[in-house]
Amino acid sequence: MDSVVISSGHAKYVSGAIGILNEVTEARKVVPQVAKYLKELVITVYEFHDDTSKTQKDNINTIVKYHNSKKRDLDVSVHFNSGTKVTGGVEVLYCTDAQKTIATKVSSAISNSLGIRDRGAKKRNDLGFLNGTKQPAILIEVCFVDVKENADAYHKNFDACCRAIAETITNKKLPTKATSNDDGKRYRLYTGTFATKVSATAFKEKVEKEFDITLQIREE
Ligand SMILES: [Zn+2]
Repeated sequence: MDSVVISSGHAKYVSGAIGILNEVTEARKVVPQVAKYLKELVITVYEFHDDTSKTQKDNINTIVKYHNSKKRDLDVSVHFNSGTKVTGGVEVLYCTDAQKTIATKVSSAISNSLGIRDRGAKKRNDLGFLNGTKQPAILIEVCFVDVKENADAYHKNFDACCRAIAETITNKKLPTKATSNDDGKRYRLYTGTFATKVSATAFKEKVEKEFDITLQIREE
């Protein structure tokens, strides 16, 4: 997996589902955040949002055309579900059986990150995006726009959800997130001077092993 095209569902002028969440608005937040994490995982990412189409047909064609214009290994479309399903949850749609595994994994990862029901991978042969894109493709339905527990969970765990998508698609791990104590500043630790290089080296090795960091010895 070297490259991904990821786009938001629907378009600026072609509304998606609207409930507690607005599908288009939220998909346009998830896509750049997932793209950011994919880039951190050294993946080539092409991100697309349809700002021009006025009809559903144009919209699908525009999105599919963009995806097919890029050299990539996977196509991803980000949507939100609706239908007032009382229990809500995440599902990931696919149309060729080879994508069932990745769809299942992405659905499970989002479910875990949001703490919502895992509705799992769903095979669909009637979706323009999945049928039109030429590379392996998945369509993510992050959660239900009209289920309050889903919307709350999504707002609370937005970043974790985006990380989970990026990690699962690539089967790679992002560095552990900085803790909430991170104030944006950085702090240097001075240890004092040592009488001999031997004792400085011994200290260095002990601390490096304990904290999994690299220290440098500087002659005074
Ligand atoms: Zn949609």
